[in-house]
Amino acid sequence: MAEKMILVGGGLAGSLMSIYLAKRGYEVHLYERRDDMRQGNYVGGRSINLALSTRGITALEKVGLVEDILKISIPMFGRIMHSPEGALQYQAYGRDDQAIYSVSRGELNIRLLQLADAYPNIHMYFNHRCTHMDLDNNKATFQNENGEEVIVEGDVFLATDGAFSALRDAMIRNPRHDFSQNYESHGYKELEIVPSATGDFRMEEKALHIWPRSSFMMIALPNPGGNFTCTLFLPYEGEVSFEHLNTEKEIMQFFETYFKDAIPLMPNLLEDFKTNPVSHLTTMRTFPWVKNKSVLMGDAAHAIVPFYGQGMNCSFEDCVVLDKCIEEFSGDWDVILDAYQKSRKPNADAIADLALQNFIEMRDLVGLPEFLNKKRIEKMLVDQYPGLYRTQYERVTFSNDGYRDALLAGDKNDRFLNYIISEGLESRIEEKEFMQEKLQEWFA
Ligand SMILES: Cc1cc2nc3c(=O)[nH]c(=O)nc-3n(C[C@H](O)[C@H](O)[C@H](O)COP(=O)(O)OP(=O)(O)OC[C@H]3O[C@@H](n4cnc5c(N)ncnc54)[C@H](O)[C@@H]3O)c2cc1C
Repeated sequence: MAEKMILVGGGLAGSLMSIYLAKRGYEVHLYERRDDMRQGNYVGGRSINLALSTRGITALEKVGLVEDILKISIPMFGRIMHSPEGALQYQAYGRDDQAIYSVSRGELNIRLLQLADAYPNIHMYFNHRCTHMDLDNNKATFQNENGEEVIVEGDVFLATDGAFSALRDAMIRNPRHDFSQNYESHGYKELEIVPSATGDFRMEEKALHIWPRSSFMMIALPNPGGNFTCTLFLPYEGEVSFEHLNTEKEIMQFFETYFKDAIPLMPNLLEDFKTNPVSHLTTMRTFPWVKNKSVLMGDAAHAIVPFYGQGMNCSFEDCVVLDKCIEEFSGDWDVILDAYQKSRKPNADAIADLALQNFIEMRDLVGLPEFLNKKRIEKMLVDQYPGLYRTQYERVTFSNDGYRDALLAGDKNDRFLNYIISEGLESRIEEKEFMQEKLQEWFA
């Protein structure tokens, strides 16, 4: 008889992982706290749209969903920085054909659930909230919409219940189980740039827009409806912070000072600002990810800040790696789960660090001449020596290389760029023989 897999959480990672498991012939049971979002009652919750990149695309390719998802996505080929005076500066993300894709979280989740539903060996239970996990005896307790308790037994439990995972809560009560949670001093609020009267985009749609303001920023990602979802990242407290944005006058003055060019595009600004909550940003790390036959995946294992646009991509990659381990160590779940956690943990830590670093880059560095100069030199190197020099962004976003390798390579790139600048070698970048030798010396 097929082994019984229990997934706790039917969000992005859970719905995708259920398909991977079903394809391997397991009996899959997916329990989700919320109502079935396919019934049209999806109320958004966390961020409305997400940037999907190569790792996520690779994971979706394996279940045959890429074409469908790319059809409902908008490619963003670069970022456009908006200065306080309204001047625009474009920076390509990679080569001409390389883009990240803005996709609706709800639509993506719905497509995954629809595909999961096509597998007869996947059983889904909505309005089932996990309230207790007995890790030693492989039993989970759920509360259904009638308030009744349902106890479920299984062979393997996969915690895909997000950053505030109930299953992880049970795990970290065990001795020698590490867990840390760090909140950022910034929160975020979602706002909207609406379409024009004719339904068109009111800014360039094939780009991610950033208003970098040193200690805070606003970003905007396009949606297929012609609107942009804007996210304002701002400290909770301090001189310029959410705590001082209470009255309509304060809110408008703040936007007049920092985001003047966006005001005419945001007719619902005041309403949105007053209605939408300030949400929190947190990094959570934990280890081990496995206890007996239960395993953590996605945000339950590694909640990260959103500044590299990789939380979902990383969660999807977890599914790919676990699937590979299942194939490699067929049947032996102790070995499978251990191999999975050992492979993923260093990479999850690395993307958590990279995401924190990228916040500083996005809100502050992208506005500084020294940083832009480094980016310009990098672009010359990438254009002229594509195989020999690769940017950190390219490794993280447009490749399936380990995040840890990308982190280390980025540090080395930075040292190399400092060397080029300090030794005055920029003028020699076009000298093929000389520069190839340098690049070999540093990167071979
Ligand atoms: C502002 C913001 C912007 C982001 N932008 C990006 C981006 O551009 N690109 C990117 O790759 N990532 C992005 N992310 C990260 C991304 O949202 C997460 O990494 C991703 O959603 C993780 O997927 P998951 O399935 O692990 O968790 P979730 O998507 O949170 O799913 C967890 C599911 O479990 C359910 N659940 C929770 N508790 C229980 C319980 N007790 N019992 C049963 N079910 C339960 C929830 O209802 C939910 O459906 C962003 C995050 C934020 C906050």
